[in-house]
This record gives sequence, C-alpha cells and structure tokens, in this order.
Amino acid sequence: MPMHDTSLCWLRRDLRLHDNAALYHALKESRAVHCVFVFDTDILSRLEDKADRRVEFIWHSIRELRDELQKLGSDLHVLHGSARPLIPKLALQLHAQAVYCNHDDEPAAVARDAQVADGLADVGIDFHDYKDHVIFERGEVLTGAGTPYHVYTPYKNAWLKKVDDFYLRSYPCERYFPHLAQIVCPATPDLEQMGFLPTDLSKLALPCGMSGASIMFKDFRARLPYYHEHRDFPAIKGVSYLSTHLRFGTISIRALARDAYHTGGQGAQIWLSELIWRDFYHALLHHHPQVVGHAFKPQFERLVFGNNKAWFAAWKSGNTGYPLVDAGMRQLNQTGFMHNRLRMVTASFLVKDLQIDWRWGEAYFAAKLNDFDLAANNGGWQWAASTGCDAQPWFRIFNPVTQSEKFDAEGKFIRRYVPELKNCPDKYIHAPWTLPALEQRARQLVIGEHYPAPIVDHALAREKTLAMFSVIVDSRGLETNEPGEHSGGPLYG
Ligand code: FAD
Repeated sequence: MPMHDTSLCWLRRDLRLHDNAALYHALKESRAVHCVFVFDTDILSRLEDKADRRVEFIWHSIRELRDELQKLGSDLHVLHGSARPLIPKLALQLHAQAVYCNHDDEPAAVARDAQVADGLADVGIDFHDYKDHVIFERGEVLTGAGTPYHVYTPYKNAWLKKVDDFYLRSYPCERYFPHLAQIVCPATPDLEQMGFLPTDLSKLALPCGMSGASIMFKDFRARLPYYHEHRDFPAIKGVSYLSTHLRFGTISIRALARDAYHTGGQGAQIWLSELIWRDFYHALLHHHPQVVGHAFKPQFERLVFGNNKAWFAAWKSGNTGYPLVDAGMRQLNQTGFMHNRLRMVTASFLVKDLQIDWRWGEAYFAAKLNDFDLAANNGGWQWAASTGCDAQPWFRIFNPVTQSEKFDAEGKFIRRYVPELKNCPDKYIHAPWTLPALEQRARQLVIGEHYPAPIVDHALAREKTLAMFSVIVDSRGLETNEPGEHSGGPLYG
C-alpha cells in the first residue's frame, strides 16, 4: 500500500528514469509522484563563463527526461532559482507529503539538503534521501578498526569483498510508472532566459541524456576487452568517455559496475578498478570535507609555491612549449574533456615544473571540465601534487618529454591539438626545441616564433621542486607530520 498520496521526486545528479533509487522509492511508496529539476541559481551564479557546456548538457538531458515523462502521461517541473526555498514551496503547492532525492555528498550540497529538509520539516513534509550515485558510500567500506580507508588498494580489496548482486541490482522504476502524476507543467526556461549562451556542445562527440549515455556505453562495450591495453594512450579511442554521463547520472553506476563485474577479463577488471577509484574519492570527500581547499596531508599546507602568473596563463592556454602538456590543455579548452593520462601530466607539470599551487589548477579544471566532479577532481589534483592521501610520492616528478615519448610515441595526439607541430619530424615532436635551427626555418617551425620555447627547463624545475618539498620532509626524506602545523581554515576540525 502506498504511504503517500502525493510526493515529489527531486532530480539532481541522477537525470534518468531507470534504475534510480529515489524515483523507485517515491513511485513505490506514493499514489502520485511529481518529478522536478531546479536550475539552481546558487550553483549557476558561480559559473563565470556563460557559455557553459555543462549547463547545455543538463538542458538537453532535461528536455529528453521531459519528453519521456510526457510519453508516460506525466511531466517534469523545471524551475529556475534557489532550490532551498523552491523545493519546500513546490512541495507545499502540490500538497506533497514527502520529497525524495538521492544523496549528493559535496559539502555545499549537504548544507543545501539540510536546509531543504529543515524547511520541509517546518511544514510537516518528510524528506527521504538514498544512495544512488556510487556503489558504496559514506561508512559502507571501512577498515577493520571502523575507520575510513586512506589507501586505495586495501579499499579496493574491501570493496570487492563486499560487493555482490544485492549491491549491483537495478531499481525497477518501470514497474511503478503508473504512479507518475498525470500532469502538464509550464515550459522549460531556455538557456538565454537563464542568462546562458549556446555552446559548441552539438559539435562534440558527447550526445546528451539517457539516450546519449546508452549510445556511448554501447560503443565502449565493444572496446571494453582492450581497455587495459589502450587506456593510457590519448590518441587511441581506448577509454569510455562516460564521465560526464556518470557525473549527471544519465547512466546508472550500478548498470556499469554490474556489467564490468560479471564480464571478467583484464579489460573489464581494470575498468571496474577505475569505477572503484570513483567510489574511493567520494567516500574520502564525505569523511574529510576539509580536502576542499586544503591538503589532505596537513604538513603540505606549508609548501610555498612560486605562483608565477605568466606561467599559469601559458599553462592554461596550452603554450608551455612542452607539446604533450599543451595538447592536453588545448583538448580541455576545445572540448571540455581531457584524457586521464594528460590530466596527470598537466597537473604534475603545473605543480612540479611550474611550482604553482595545485588549487589554482584544480579551480581551472573545475571551470572547464564537462565531467567536473569535486571528489574526483580534488582527489586527482591532490594525487598529482603529492598532498593527497594515496598520492604520487613527492619526489616522483613526471618528465613531460618521456611521458610524451611513452604515451604518444608518434605524436598523433599532439598533432591533433597542436597544429603548429604538424610538420615536425616524429623524432623531435616531443621536444621540438631540439630541432636544428636550419630545419626549424625550413619547416616553418621556428621555436619562439611559430611555437613557444619551453617556459622552464625541466631538469632545473625538478631541482627547484625537490627543494620546495624538502623543506617539509625530514633528513631521511620522510614526510614530517606535525599535528597542528597546518594552516587549515575553519573546515579543519
Ligand atoms: P574511463 O577510463 O573510462 O573510466 C571510467 C570511469 O571511472 C570514469 O568515467 C570516472 O567516472 C571513473 N574514474 C576513472 N578514473 C578515475 C579517477 N582517477 N578518479 C575518480 N574516478 C575515476 N574524473 C571525473 O569524473 N571528474 C573530474 O573532475 C576529474 N578530475 C580529474 C583531475 C585530475 C588532475 C586527474 C588526474 C583525474 C581526474 N578525474 C576526474 C579522473 C579521470 O581522469 C576521469 O574520470 C577520466 O579521464 C574520464 O574519462 P573516461 O570516462 O573515459 O574514463
């Protein structure tokens, strides 16, 4: 027997109608379920660039959701404003007895949800929230001592030990679709009405919505057996490119993990490990929200960065003179995506070649990435900067030239994004400044004129960075961890 006459299902990073935990519970427990999405001005007003691909991605995904709901005789309420007052207001208007949604563990979302839940409680409306975005969340995978894991491999082993068909099962929302409220809602505000501009999204290989996710997953599924062999080479279509869909929940993490778990073979196993990294960073953010803005290892709050603004500008625009770094940054600027290997290389370059604060790079990625996810982005940056929990050791510094030789040997990816280098012979593509001067002229590739000279010398930069970190580590090269020495702000308890 349904518990509620009417309830409201608030969609956020779960823009799908299938295998959606909150929607399933709302439908099962209510006679009439209204669905709502809020273009939340508390989030949108912070976006500086008004041509934002993510807003457009959401807009198209919402349009598809609406079409699908309309086919079922229902509709989607689409609101524009601050979700904090809007959700309780709509719930009251609809005479809903409960609001359902899925967890969002980003600190700002946790604060928002607490406020919404309070607002609802004031008027006697229940607030029900569920795990949906990850396989295991919060305190579900803990060490034997009941503490959160800070090292990935034991976390992964515990994750794999715990997982089974129960955790990977799908929520059969379809079974209760007759409980969707039969309604007609006002028109969706268009991007311009919300102060945003259309972007180049339609030109990118990123179809939106549930149908886009399904097309992309099918495409990847055929490549899954080779994932482990191809995933590190940006010129090869080796990875899934599903991160934006996972971010906005247009595809179910359970469907993907279930498929990988039951498929077997090295490709599927390694891909599942990547999905586990995602859970790991989400749990980390839940347990340690202070990682936002602060080094996970407090001793590294004492690092003194050079923060050269001209170098930062060169890094952002892909003009450092290091081809693989520049190709990665230009891929990000042109498409909103960057291959994982290049995220590691460009992040390492910013911190360990240019001695620029990892938080500057983290913020730039956050502004540009279509798949921007606070937990994964912060985790990735703190990994590269060696300030994170299970990070690259501080003395390991990627060499941007050898990384290039190893992962883009023929320079295919570099030439795709750095057309100035199209006439550069393979032998010099990774370090074009070594091309003899006469050849530079003959090939219209004069370094410093057609393509920048390297902004720093890697060997010298490396020494500088080792010195920067060695202030923090003791004479044996071990990290000193002096409690109370970090300069953490109010979030450090
Ligand atoms: P695949 O290789 O196909 O992996 C499948 C999925 O696993 C990804 O879609 C993603 O959801 C998850 N995943 C893979 N690697 C990681 C990882 N290291 N950490 C967490 N989840 C992972 N990923 C984001 O989703 N959003 C970010 O904002 C983000 N920022 C990053 C910043 C830095 C500096 C680094 C080093 C990594 C970052 N990553 C981020 C992780 C990773 O680079 C991307 O998830 C991946 O490149 C997305 O491409 P894909 O979907 O083809 O990945």
